[in-house]
Amino acid sequence: MRIAVGGIHTECSTYSPVLMQKQDFRILRDKGLMEHDYFAFLGRSGASFAPLLHARAVPGGPVSRPAYDALKAEFLERLSAALPVDGVYLAMHGAMKVDGLWDAEGDWITAVRRLIGPAIPIAVSYDLHGNVSQEIVDQIDIFAAYRTAPHIDVTETMEAALAMLIRALTSGARPGIVRVPVPLLLPGERSSTEDEPARSLYAALPGLEGKGVWRTDLMIGYVWADEPRTTASAIVTGTDRAAVSSAAESIAAGFWAAREGFRFGPVTGPLDAMLDLASAAATRPVILADSGDNPTGGGVGDRADVLGALIARGWQDALMAGITDRPAVEACFAAGTGAQLTLKIGASLDPAGVSVTAEVEVLRLDAGDSPADRQAVVLTGGITLVLAARRRPYHDIADFTRLGLDPGATGLLVVKSGYLSPDLAPIANPNLMALTDGVVNQDIPRLANLHRAPGTIPWDGNPGFRPRAEPSARFRG
Ligand SMILES: [Zn+2]
Repeated sequence: MRIAVGGIHTECSTYSPVLMQKQDFRILRDKGLMEHDYFAFLGRSGASFAPLLHARAVPGGPVSRPAYDALKAEFLERLSAALPVDGVYLAMHGAMKVDGLWDAEGDWITAVRRLIGPAIPIAVSYDLHGNVSQEIVDQIDIFAAYRTAPHIDVTETMEAALAMLIRALTSGARPGIVRVPVPLLLPGERSSTEDEPARSLYAALPGLEGKGVWRTDLMIGYVWADEPRTTASAIVTGTDRAAVSSAAESIAAGFWAAREGFRFGPVTGPLDAMLDLASAAATRPVILADSGDNPTGGGVGDRADVLGALIARGWQDALMAGITDRPAVEACFAAGTGAQLTLKIGASLDPAGVSVTAEVEVLRLDAGDSPADRQAVVLTGGITLVLAARRRPYHDIADFTRLGLDPGATGLLVVKSGYLSPDLAPIANPNLMALTDGVVNQDIPRLANLHRAPGTIPWDGNPGFRPRAEPSARFRG
């Protein structure tokens, strides 16, 4: 049994003007794919693999068409060279936007199906923030998505997709997929599985599995994509079409019934109100999430709104990580550690963003592996600020310790984030979320909505909605 493995994994805000290029992707090929931690579970499965290409990028703006075309062409060439295979496993995110293309994963997966023909099963794993179109499910046989947000079940999900593929190949069973779209779009920050009602909805999923129903998933979808395919959905895999359809409709109905109950987890409000709360806090560190510019949600990550507000308040004892600004980082490297300089910080990628000009002292320089990986730690007033040459989050404790910083030892830690990461959430004392501006801002009803399906909440009402199972073309056939 030989399984081809690869895929493309990113999430794109269609409101971002900053296109992703090929160099923004971490590309794994061949042995490098098999040996990477991300795919270490493959070696435990007992199957043999044809590792193709896996491209992954920090969420951001749409992928440039030449970058996408080059990655897809190389993937298909490698797949073609690997044939014959018994199955294909694709590790996807599901909310990629490609400049000029409406359904990027649909395009990628359809190209795979065309190449391998109708007989070979395709299994995919997804992020629960993926937007799943009927075109996608029509090409595939097996689907599994994360059941946690923050995502702490990444490996389990990938293993589940692969295990179902191996089960199909060894037993001869041919599972199919049923999709039930739900016209309700929520930001991830109001549908964390740490909080109700998502917590209970996801906890109930395994209980719907059983004879003929292999895997049950609830897709929240990705709200910052103004595309016709953008939707929440229930996706269920199995061999008994009636049972699979019934499980999918039940998941969709439960999600729809809970629609009024989704709330932000932490205390959330306008930036000024959150800074008032932070300055009055008797405990530390307060962790303030700058939610509109969160790079892991597709935000640009170059905005200086919060920095400007802290400077205006003469804030003492704050650590901010970080702002993406390659010219500012280069200026710090040119000036050297210990230098004092005047820096324009912010809006280096999106000219519509916010910048500030500040006197800074360079505390530390981190050269990384290349100029694109450089970071600078600077001090302005009582604010320690991390500047990064590339778009990236600071969500792991290791991101701070590498720079000699202790996120637990500051009064106020500002990160560009939505819900906090598993590393930062436990040290937040308390966690506040600011409703800041940016290409992933939380003011969902005011997002431009030109292309999503009519009847999608919160832009439209949909009083007559009833969940209706849509079996994939392969399941119907
Ligand atoms: Zn996600």
